[in-house]
Amino acid sequence: MAKVVKFGGSSLADANQFRKVADIIRSDKERRYVVPSAPGKRFSDDTKVTDMLYKCYDDVCGGANAVAAFLPIADRYNGIISDLGLTISLDREYEEITDNFTKRVGRDYAASRGEYLNGIILANYLGFNFVDAAKGIFFKANGEFDAELTDATLASILEGYDCAVIPGFYGANPDGSIRTFSRGGSDFTGSVVAKAIGAELYENWTDVPGFAIADPRIVKNPKFIDVITYRELRELSYMGATVLHQDAIFPVRNAKIPINIKNTNDPSAKGTMIVPEAPEGKNEHIITGIAGKKNFSAVAIEKDEMNGEIGFLRRILTLMDVEKINFEHIPTGIDTMTLIVDTDDLKKHPNFAERVKEVSNPNHIEIEDHLALIAVVGRGMKATKGTATRIFAALSHANINIKMIDQGSSELNIIIGIHEDDFDEAIRVIYNMFMLQE
Ligand code: ASP
Repeated sequence: MAKVVKFGGSSLADANQFRKVADIIRSDKERRYVVPSAPGKRFSDDTKVTDMLYKCYDDVCGGANAVAAFLPIADRYNGIISDLGLTISLDREYEEITDNFTKRVGRDYAASRGEYLNGIILANYLGFNFVDAAKGIFFKANGEFDAELTDATLASILEGYDCAVIPGFYGANPDGSIRTFSRGGSDFTGSVVAKAIGAELYENWTDVPGFAIADPRIVKNPKFIDVITYRELRELSYMGATVLHQDAIFPVRNAKIPINIKNTNDPSAKGTMIVPEAPEGKNEHIITGIAGKKNFSAVAIEKDEMNGEIGFLRRILTLMDVEKINFEHIPTGIDTMTLIVDTDDLKKHPNFAERVKEVSNPNHIEIEDHLALIAVVGRGMKATKGTATRIFAALSHANINIKMIDQGSSELNIIIGIHEDDFDEAIRVIYNMFMLQE
């Protein structure tokens, strides 16, 4: 059996962190396939290598000399190599990279070199094989990730290696050029590798103890989630909980491979386990997590006898489709409906209200900005009465006005719309209601 282990940037920020990573890998011989990020921040106002690469490439495109611009990046890698006492030299790679920068091969290529170089160093330090992600992770011509080709190719490559390091964050386009996933995408690579080798477990090592029930920047010392299902996680990460890239569950989901979020700086702690199905028995907590996002707008549409008008909703949705505006929620009343949309998205369509009038002839239309959405997620809700009451009571005691309520059809999620100014307080009072009183 094998485990795939992905280490985030802060876990590989310097030689000291590399040593911790190697200890973790060596302490379990099933940890055979390793996916590294690029070196992250060593201290709070440090710069991640990925950001240095983007800037370096932009500077070169703006006329800077590639070799000179690349020096601070080479210094970071050389520092890690020498502090670890390794004898490899990456000079040849630096030369190739700076040549390619001068040829302006692209920003994605530039950013991907962070993981690529880190992967070479880590493979050398561990005595593992290095497998370039461009050889086994592929995109289609339209830019979509090519899951089938990747799965088949990676599986056959990795079959040949007992132990390997596969850099995160990038793969190849059909023409061989490099494309990256979105930021934080090494999580996705780890998941893809886990799927390809049929891993028993995907360990995602980071610098926090796991998923916090609520954002620690808002709730002081929140509890951490022990076990969360894929579906709960999807709801929470979509609604802004970070820690894991929001797409990272997709490759492992069908294969039912669990993901364990672990802390490189405290390896014996259990972390958060992300599992396909809810474990048997009663949940420890009714709610699993709380997350939220700001910057939404509500487009409220009112029309007499809307409810009896066949095709009303269809006309509005067709308009959204034509205008390419994504909606988050559509709460409806008898003669009213509200579209909850991303404010930035809406701002790109200043004539939207006019267009709604054209297609639906409403009595009244009004747009309200500064809305925040908070999702209270928990598989325990289904079996527990009074969850909504407790959420509303908490908000009402805090004098927070609720502007929208949406309970997901799965009874896994209650979403509340409030004014942005109430965002932090709302999360705190909901957290306290469930975590301090259970
Ligand atoms: N290094 C990339 C980033 O900073 C990808 C990753 O770390 O997952 O976004």
